[in-house]
Amino acid sequence: MVCNLNSKIALVTGGGAGIGRAIAKRLAESGAIVAVCDLIGESAGQVVQEIEQAGGRAYGYALDVADNGQVEQVVKQIESELGGVQILVNNAGITRDSLLIRMSEDDFDRVLAVNLKGAFNLTKACCRSMMRLHWGRIINISSVIGQMGNAGQSNYAAAKAGLIGFTKSVAKELAARNITVNAIAPGFIATAMTEKLDPAVRQSYIAAIPLKRAGTPEDVASLCLFLASDEAGYITGQVIRVDGGMLM
Ligand code: NAP
Repeated sequence: MVCNLNSKIALVTGGGAGIGRAIAKRLAESGAIVAVCDLIGESAGQVVQEIEQAGGRAYGYALDVADNGQVEQVVKQIESELGGVQILVNNAGITRDSLLIRMSEDDFDRVLAVNLKGAFNLTKACCRSMMRLHWGRIINISSVIGQMGNAGQSNYAAAKAGLIGFTKSVAKELAARNITVNAIAPGFIATAMTEKLDPAVRQSYIAAIPLKRAGTPEDVASLCLFLASDEAGYITGQVIRVDGGMLM
């Protein structure tokens, strides 16, 4: 199946690295005009260059998704420079792992602010133009950890589980405007986020995956492209895992 995004305006948060970078590139390859947003403007700029070199169209923006004022300002700028956002991918995420007994309030708050409130900030800012257009796609990058929990990640699991509840509620609110809202729950994907784990821990995760390998950012990007396309127009409020069978 060829999914053609026909010059639709897409915004990808955390698009400067890992899964977000692969998603931004895949959407651009399929014809979207992509606003690549990242905490560090230079990382976004690098991905924009890669997209342009491959013949696609993209623009870079520095954006901290946890800062609601900044989100409103950048979304307004994107609307005036490119047009209303039609495809939103809430991908930016961080981990700050430790056992609950040692977890600081700051580590709990920051993980919630980026992974969960970031999605609220962006969705609220972008859904107005989607409502006007009567077409939209919102794709939230959750995690299998939000469904199964993980020792040392109570903050991250809470944020990712919260994102699933957020996805389903907003899907119900926006369905009448022909806007679909879905979550992707990746398993263990090879990016900077998982590279920082102890090699023995990494091996133990891979050993527990039926397909016996870590996923790639491109594995996640393929599903994201499908959910962003017209072909996925009757799928909303769903959580779809890309995890090599890690959680069944
Ligand atoms: P990554 O390689 O660390 O990339 C995350 C990107 O988000 C980085 O470019 C990072 O910028 C950016 N970012 C961090 N905080 C931000 C903020 N406040 N505002 C905007 N951008 C911000 O991580 P990844 O593995 O690609 O993860 C992408 C998403 O997938 C996350 O939501 C993650 O929770 C989820 N996920 C990942 C896995 C996995 O195994 N990798 C599994 C399940 C779910 P800096 O580099 O400058 O910090």
